[in-house]
Amino acid sequence: MIKAIRGTRDLLPPDTDLWNRVEAKVRELFAGYNFHEIRTPIFEDTQLFSRSVGEETDIVSKEMFTWDDRARAQSEKPQSLSLRPEATAGIVRAYIEHRLGDKGTLQKLYCIGPMFRRERPQKGRYRQFYQIDAEIIGPPSAGSESPARDAEVLEMLATLLDEVGLRGWNLQLNSVGCAEDRARYNQALRDALKPVVQQMCADCQRRAETNPLRVLDCKVPEDQPIIEKLPKISEYLDQPCREHFAAVRAMLDAIGVPYSINERMVRGLDYYTRTTFEFTHGGLGAQSAVLGGGRYDGLSELLGGPKAPAIGFAIGEDRLMLALESQGEQPKEMLQAFVAPLGAGMNPHALKLARELRRAGVSADLGDENFRLKKSFELAEKAGAKFIVIVGENEVAANQFAVKNLASGEQVQVLRSGLAKHLRQQ
Ligand code: AMP
Repeated sequence: MIKAIRGTRDLLPPDTDLWNRVEAKVRELFAGYNFHEIRTPIFEDTQLFSRSVGEETDIVSKEMFTWDDRARAQSEKPQSLSLRPEATAGIVRAYIEHRLGDKGTLQKLYCIGPMFRRERPQKGRYRQFYQIDAEIIGPPSAGSESPARDAEVLEMLATLLDEVGLRGWNLQLNSVGCAEDRARYNQALRDALKPVVQQMCADCQRRAETNPLRVLDCKVPEDQPIIEKLPKISEYLDQPCREHFAAVRAMLDAIGVPYSINERMVRGLDYYTRTTFEFTHGGLGAQSAVLGGGRYDGLSELLGGPKAPAIGFAIGEDRLMLALESQGEQPKEMLQAFVAPLGAGMNPHALKLARELRRAGVSADLGDENFRLKKSFELAEKAGAKFIVIVGENEVAANQFAVKNLASGEQVQVLRSGLAKHLRQQ
């Protein structure tokens, strides 16, 4: 038997009801903040990711699904393509390609879709997973660099998590400064690691060479006392970066969004500058980050585009759903009516009635005239319907139907004209 590939999974009903409910809430809330949807391809030129996410990051060096696409002509070299491991790079590519910056306004863009990383699968970590991604990007003249954008994004996320019903989230905040700050900090880390790195895990020994910032992500217990003593990023921020971060914090304080500072949170992608953040949740175990994001003021230029400071985030949908489920049973979408034709020749009448009900906004399933009444009742119950509506010859003639509430057992006759209203009641 052919099965789904390890690290991928099927999302089935009723779980997908929760996914749709969350996504509908996201779309409604984002619209209220003037975000609009962008849909980019799920595969791109490999270079887009190696240049933006960073050659030395785990994502690019180990986790991308990459292949050589056949050359179109003999003379052409095959092109290296990759499934997107994240959404920001593609969105910035589209921003540049379609000259969205020429409008002179902030672009507030979001997308919802699958991402792909060849990670070791475990709970909350998949090779195909889903992200809700949003970005604010634009020319500096439109205010894209302002700390007000950071605060707006963080406030929106706090509201979103509250509104989808997630309780007990934590916002962890940091600033990784500008490129020059990080270069100085990287050097300081290299110097500080030199005398101690031999005592650390193999990953840290490698990272100390290639990308010392990543040492801060290490989870190996024995390495923690060494990491705690390393220099802190806050000591290496220049004055404008310090002020920017202070302004973001002051705005969060003013509106009462709680956060804690985590100076070790540098995030796994190279393009971040200044504010970085994660929202975590206790119900998730080891993979506790529900979402992550930050500023990336230099990415557009790095990819050959105009100066376009930006801030964005990606919510891990799989983890958000796990966190919500960890809080207990999720409300189920109830089918309102099961329309049961009773006797030969009643199928068209039942279909007509179901059509009227569905058009009036009542969710309805439909039986078959070959079913006996007992079987119709069983099917209605299995389908989780609130009501069963019997469509027999007498009912059609009288334009009045027998309606039974399957939970209470109460049965009444309802005129066709009042049926939708009756079925919509709780
Ligand atoms: P990142 O793009 O690495 O900052 O990830 C943003 C969010 O996506 C994380 O906080 C997770 O919630 C989610 N995420 C990242 N990688 C995976 C994965 N392999 N499986 C499931 N969710 C993931």
